[in-house]
Formats: sequence, C-alpha cells, structure tokens
Amino acid sequence: MENFAFYNPVKILFGKGQIANIGAEIPSDAKILITYGGGSIKSNGVYEQVKAALAGRNFLEFGGIEANPHLETLLKAVELIRAEGIDFLLAVGGGSVVDGTKFIAAAVPFEGDPWDICAKQAPLKAAIPFGAVLTLPATGSEMNTASVVTKWETQEKLFFASPLVFPKFSVLDPETTYSLPIRQVSNGIVDAYVHVMEQYLTYPANAPLQDRMAESILKTLIEEGPKVLADLHNYEARANVMWCATMALNGLIGVGVPQDWATHMIGHELTALHGIDHAQTLAIVLPNTLTVRRDRKRQKLLQYADRVWGLVDGTEDLRIDQAISKTREFFESVGVPTHLSDYGVGLDVIPKIIDRFEKRGFVALGENQDVTPKVVEKILVLCA
Ligand code: NAP
Ligand code: FE
Repeated sequence: MENFAFYNPVKILFGKGQIANIGAEIPSDAKILITYGGGSIKSNGVYEQVKAALAGRNFLEFGGIEANPHLETLLKAVELIRAEGIDFLLAVGGGSVVDGTKFIAAAVPFEGDPWDICAKQAPLKAAIPFGAVLTLPATGSEMNTASVVTKWETQEKLFFASPLVFPKFSVLDPETTYSLPIRQVSNGIVDAYVHVMEQYLTYPANAPLQDRMAESILKTLIEEGPKVLADLHNYEARANVMWCATMALNGLIGVGVPQDWATHMIGHELTALHGIDHAQTLAIVLPNTLTVRRDRKRQKLLQYADRVWGLVDGTEDLRIDQAISKTREFFESVGVPTHLSDYGVGLDVIPKIIDRFEKRGFVALGENQDVTPKVVEKILVLCA
C-alpha cells in the first residue's frame, strides 16, 4: 500500500425528512445564498422543504446553473455574492449545482481571473463555506473536494480540487430522487460505477481492504440499480444507490492505491464537444479503456471477473473478455448506450480530441501515465 493522508470532514445527514435539520448546520447570523439548477427543485417539493427549514433566516437565491455548469453563469453568482455580502452558500440539486457552487465558493475571494482556478490549477487561499442538499446520486461531489466546470466560450471542460471546498454538510434524502427522469437515474448508476472502476481497476497494490470495499460498491450497484429502475418508489433501493454513489467518490476507496481517471478525462472532451451526458461518455469509453489496457490491467481484470462477476471458468483471456462484456451489458441494461454511434457521433471526433489534449500540453493519462494521445486514439476508435 502507498502512503496516504485521509481527511474528510463532511457531515452527512442521511434519510427521509433530513432537509428539516439544515438550519442547525448553518451559522444563525449567516446571509445565505441558495444555488440551484434549471428548476427541478421547484416542481418536486425540495425547494419548499428547504424554505421551510430556513424560515426566519436571511437568504437569497440564484437559479439557472446548467448541467455541466458554465463558468459564465457561475461568475454572475460571484458578482451577486460580492454585492450582497453573502457568507454561506446552500447548493440544492445534482452534481452540477454542487460542483458549480464549489467553484463559486472558491471564486468569490479569489484575486485574479477565476478561470485560472481550473485552467492553471491556481492555488486557493480561501473559499466561502457551503452546504448541499443532493437530489441526484451520481458524482460524489456532496462529499469530496472536486468540481468540474465548463467554459462555454471555448468549450473547455476542466476540473479543480481543494480541501477548501469540502461541503460543511450534505443532506442525502433518497425521497428527493423520486422525481428524477429515468435517464438521470441510469446516469447516476453508471457514473458511480465508473468512479469505483477508476480507483480499483488498475494494478494490484497490496490493498485488499480497498479492493473489497470497491467490489462491494460495484456489486451493490449491480444489485440495487435495477431495483430502482423496476420500481421508482423503492425507498430502500434508492437509499442504497444513493449511499453507493457517495462512497464511490468520497476518497475512502482511493487511498493508498493507484488511480486511473483516463476514462473521465476522455469523457469530459466528448461532453465538451458534443454535449453527451457525463455518464453516457463514461459508458462509451470505459469498456474500451479496459480492452486497450487489458495487458497492463490484467491481474485486476481477472480479480474483477472473479469477485464481481463470478467468472472462474475458461482461460484467463476468455474471463477478461467476459468481464468487459458484462460491464458493457450492465451499462446497456440500466439504459445507457455504449457506442458513439448511439449518440450520433462519428469518428471525426477523434482528431479533435487528440488535438485538444495536445494543445493543453497533455502527455499521458492513466495509473501508469502511459495513456498517450496514440493510446487515446486506439480507445476512441473502438468506441465507434
Ligand atoms: P446534473 O447535471 O447535476 O443534473 C442533470 C439533470 O438532472 C438536470 O437537468 C437537473 O435538473 C436534473 N435533476 C437533478 N435532480 C433532480 C431531481 N431530483 N428530480 C428531477 N430532476 C433532477 O447531473 P449529475 O450527474 O449529478 O452531475 C453531472 C456533472 O457532475 C458533470 O458536469 C460531471 O462532469 C460532474 N462530475 C463531478 C464529479 C465530482 O467529483 N465533483 C464527479 C463526476 C462527475 P435541474 O437543473 O432542473 O435541477
Ligand atoms: Fe464522474
């Protein structure tokens, strides 16, 4: 196992009715800004619950944060916060609202061009405190330090991470997810699954506890995901998927082990260029990353085949083929197509992505830092 430091201060309020308890988590004299997306919280009752919990408190609201939040929109919130003297943010929505709020929190005290936070990984000195009410289990953003922001003007989708943007608390009420469109339920299952794979399917690191935690999350998603899709008001299945998504990317399973993230990096380009949903890009790319990297990932692929899919018969190569097929079939079975052509995207996207990577000075991705632009090209050819 590699050395590591682990720190995660996010207080989780999990379960039915927990939104009612947020008042106690926010300083009583705070001037609060509620941030939200395109309006789902106003039609599913979540906004009413938040307002009731903040009755008598000093708050304003800022809506309109897009899926794959736009820098241009987030900067409007920064202006509002500076003008109004806001000192606490409350993100209410999916990963895009939480990510967008992290960026806003970091940008308000930032001196200079806030886009440098992502584009130049500019160091942060401070951020405004914030809490979250999560309505879409997928990203893990509710309990981690990462944020992904899109600069619309240049179609760049880039991330930053800082312990300064850990939420102070996050509410996970599975009942808030009942109103999700099926496509977003499916996306959430796939995003959480791929987060685990990015931290697990690398090379052995003598970390059996992390391996087994990762395998448990994968198996739970395989079992509980379809239950949600079969019965959208199955509270227990919703609760289990929600907790899986948080545990998949709150740092715990990734300590002391190598991490890949090539699939996410390639996927971000597909979203930036073609607007394909984040999880859809992962469903397209992951099976092919595994295929192209099968020699480097051989031992973990065999372990994954055995422990997650129960594949123990046949040659090693057959088991690896079957494990990759099972992964693809799982994504398809929960309703996320796995080929570029399913989204109307052709092979002409490949040189564009390679070009963008090269312009950004990118040399190589992956746990071995050997997924060069040439390897990315191989992966994308298989995605057709
Ligand atoms: P999202 O972009 O936050 O939301 C997708 C859609 O779902 C929006 O249209 C939203 O509508 C709707 N929605 C959310 N909750 C709903 C509910 N309860 N009922 C009905 N509709 C609801 O989706 P996401 O998958 O959570 O976030 C994706 C973003 O997170 C991407 O930009 C991705 O790159 C990023 N990401 C971040 C991390 C991280 O670690 N920080 C990890 C992976 C991915 P409204 O706008 O109307 O609310
Ligand atoms: Fe993701």
